[in-house]
Amino acid sequence: MSTTTPLLELKSVTKSFSSGLFRRTETLAVRGVSLRLERAETLGIVGESGSGKSTLGRLALRLLPVTSGEVLVDGRAIHDLSESELRPLRRRMQIVFQDPYASLNPYHSVKRIVAEPLVVHGVAKNDRAAEPRVRELLAQVGLGADTLERFPSAFSGGQRQRIAIARAIALEPELLVLDEPTSALDVSIQAQVVALLEELQRARGLSYLFISHDLALVEHMAARIAVMYLGRIVEVGPRDAVALHPKHPYTRALLAAVPEINQEKRRLRVLLPGEIPSASNAPSGCAFHPRCDRAQLGVCDAQEPPLAGDAHAVRCFFPLASTDPS
Ligand code: ADP
Ligand code: MG
Repeated sequence: MSTTTPLLELKSVTKSFSSGLFRRTETLAVRGVSLRLERAETLGIVGESGSGKSTLGRLALRLLPVTSGEVLVDGRAIHDLSESELRPLRRRMQIVFQDPYASLNPYHSVKRIVAEPLVVHGVAKNDRAAEPRVRELLAQVGLGADTLERFPSAFSGGQRQRIAIARAIALEPELLVLDEPTSALDVSIQAQVVALLEELQRARGLSYLFISHDLALVEHMAARIAVMYLGRIVEVGPRDAVALHPKHPYTRALLAAVPEINQEKRRLRVLLPGEIPSASNAPSGCAFHPRCDRAQLGVCDAQEPPLAGDAHAVRCFFPLASTDPS
């Protein structure tokens, strides 16, 4: 155990949504997740669509309330803070969403979009007063001052994501939750945005919670990786341990995933039998067992394996050894 207090810590965090007729459908989107994020570190969260990654990112920033468990920032639980107590915290923690088309107000100029957090938090009196700072921020994300008076519709996806990043760093945050920040972008543009994020992290000592369905990208960005499946962490550890010596059969499948031919959807095809089940109807025992070639009936469907191990932990009764073929 490290003795320093991490910047962000999640302790047995669970989130359930009620939906459907009479709100009787219960979806356990996040189940008992514990994680630590150290200062200036990148923690990667990877898993297929529906595994609970976005929900986890929102819980970490208290954009959603937890159902149970605790989120701590600097060792302090944030879920019982009042809105006014939260304000200074909100400055320190920002989020960048996947879709730069949906996350920027189409009726606001770039100047107004980037100035907004500065005005809301009282750093600048109004957009006009914020302008010098907005220019600086735009320069830091590689955009010129000629963009100030233009509207989001004038920009490409990559440029929009730069605007969203400029807004996210406006208040000098310590932590960014990056929720699939490049998944909606063309491959060539993806690399540029990734390079920008790396550059900003180096320059500012930022901590990133980097969320993606793409394990190769997470491997590139993150020092530690947590793999999620149906709301659970199934494997977590240092990047090289997880990516080079996966212990969970699901992690191995993610490593072998291939990009979909259909570039519109930009998803990975995971080479596994069947689709990921719905989180509202998770299989018994180990939720992965119906898709797993190592599953033993009577064991894997009967009870859920614990997350076992210290630095490199896995939730599996029959984990892969590093000598197993991948
Ligand atoms: P990911 O980001 O990994 O694709 P999400 O966190 O978006 O996963 O979703 C996890 C599960 O929680 C999914 O089954 C999703 O349908 C469900 N879910 C997410 N948000 C809500 C919500 N507001 N109401 C009901 N179900 C939700
Ligand atoms: Mg998501």
